[in-house]
Amino acid sequence: MDEKPRGRLKPDRVPIPSIKPAERISSFDECLLLYTKEQAIEEAQRCIQCARPWCVEACPIDQDCRLYLKQIAEGDFEGAVGTILKDNPMASCLGKVCYSYCEPACVIGKRGDPVAIRHLKWAALAYGNGSRTYELEWIRDKAVAIVGFGPAGLTAAWVLARRGYAVTVFESSHKLGGLVTQTIPPYRLSPETFGEDMRRLEHLKIEFRQGVRVGDDLDVKDLFDMGYAAIFIGIGTHKPGTLNVPGNDLPGVYIALDFLKSVFDGDRPPIGGTVAIIGGGDVAVDCSRTVLRLGVDKSIILYRRTRDEMPAFDEEVEDALAEGVEVRYLVSPIEFRGRDVVESVVCQKMELGPLDESGRRRPVPVKGEEIVLPVDHVIVAIGQKADLSVIPDMGLRIDKDGIVVANPETCETSIEGIFAGGGRSIVHAMATGRRAAESIAKYLEGKAVTPTAASPQ
Ligand SMILES: Cc1cc2nc3c(=O)[nH]c(=O)nc-3n(C[C@H](O)[C@H](O)[C@H](O)COP(=O)(O)OP(=O)(O)OC[C@H]3O[C@@H](n4cnc5c(N)ncnc54)[C@H](O)[C@@H]3O)c2cc1C
Ligand code: SF4
Ligand code: SF4
Repeated sequence: MDEKPRGRLKPDRVPIPSIKPAERISSFDECLLLYTKEQAIEEAQRCIQCARPWCVEACPIDQDCRLYLKQIAEGDFEGAVGTILKDNPMASCLGKVCYSYCEPACVIGKRGDPVAIRHLKWAALAYGNGSRTYELEWIRDKAVAIVGFGPAGLTAAWVLARRGYAVTVFESSHKLGGLVTQTIPPYRLSPETFGEDMRRLEHLKIEFRQGVRVGDDLDVKDLFDMGYAAIFIGIGTHKPGTLNVPGNDLPGVYIALDFLKSVFDGDRPPIGGTVAIIGGGDVAVDCSRTVLRLGVDKSIILYRRTRDEMPAFDEEVEDALAEGVEVRYLVSPIEFRGRDVVESVVCQKMELGPLDESGRRRPVPVKGEEIVLPVDHVIVAIGQKADLSVIPDMGLRIDKDGIVVANPETCETSIEGIFAGGGRSIVHAMATGRRAAESIAKYLEGKAVTPTAASPQ
């Protein structure tokens, strides 16, 4: 980065308002609060409008945040909404829970706090006309099937429907939105927020067939016989990782994704007392904060490395700690014990060794040092991956994040007319959905499928 903050730089961010930790754990209401109009304008005015906007380059969907910040700084919230929605069909969700890849790239961060780019997206939508809809521009006679309606499928559907293709979505869940609506807790993202994004799509020609699991209810290739000229597969990462330790099948040991899905579907599994959550990622942190809101006495994250290596988004870890979640570092569960239900977790003490292939220091056991932690429940949150059993023989593989990888530049699979994508965050998944849709459009127009300008992230 060669851009240097110039002029009268304001290093301090206008603080993002939120509900106090002690108060917010008594409900699932959203914790972050909106800036006032005046606060939004003041915060946006901190942007120095860099000639080379590193923030835009860092955004996987190339959201033109420099422009929307300028518009907000001038009080033009309507203009800002137009700028945002042009690139972003999930702007309402991303304004609240994007992992804001743009912000660490912001040059103001060199001397102070980066501009609150994500939070200002929310402000723009709230104070401009965020409820405007996308309009159908023209109609073509070809139809495309989208398998899975998470952020990748939604974005692919948005691009293709706006280009006039008839889109049909096949979604196994009764909920649309994928992991966003099935698992992201409402205290970070209310279901109504996803509803705002969905309402903007209502004039496009997108048909929904829910409760259809492709691979079980019908085969991917059957979709061609049904008349679809191309298929996009965006099935996400719904196959949970399992911990192969004795006692992992004891009652009271939950799998994180299943646990979150059932809580947010209204079916609250019995939980209370001391809950140990195994893992150090965002899913573990979301479980730790969710169980607090379900009224448990203690929520303890067990992580085998240290805070520095923890993959969870820093802001979330801070929020969890403020709410009273305890984190024990350098411990790895080796057994769950209990007679009829889980009663304790036996942990091996760890220390950090040399770097591993992920570039982080590898945890190695400290011989002879074990601790036994009495617990009432355990939640295992050690990752999840795509379930490729439903879509065999397409030349697909799973990357280190568990995500389906087709051709990373064009999203083509080894079967003509079938494309695939997904991502480790909402905005990464959206980027692959857009890339795949661009490829599908070229394929349907009989053009060579070549990479689009936006590079894979
Ligand atoms: C607890 C949790 C919290 C998270 N928090 C954040 C966050 O704050 N910010 C962020 O950016 N990201 C977050 N993520 C990650 C984000 O949700 C995912 O990266 C994103 O949803 C991936 O999008 P996708 O479209 O690839 O897959 P998904 O969202 O998983 O969508 C795939 C869809 O396909 C459907 N499906 C699966 N198999 C089939 C089939 N065979 N037939 C038909 N339909 C099928 C599924 O039901 C699902 O609706 C979080 C994830 C979790 C689990
Ligand atoms: S948000 Fe930061 S990096 Fe982006 S244009 Fe403004 S000051 Fe520059
Ligand atoms: S979508 Fe996310 S990464 Fe992109 S500009 Fe918005 S907050 Fe930043």
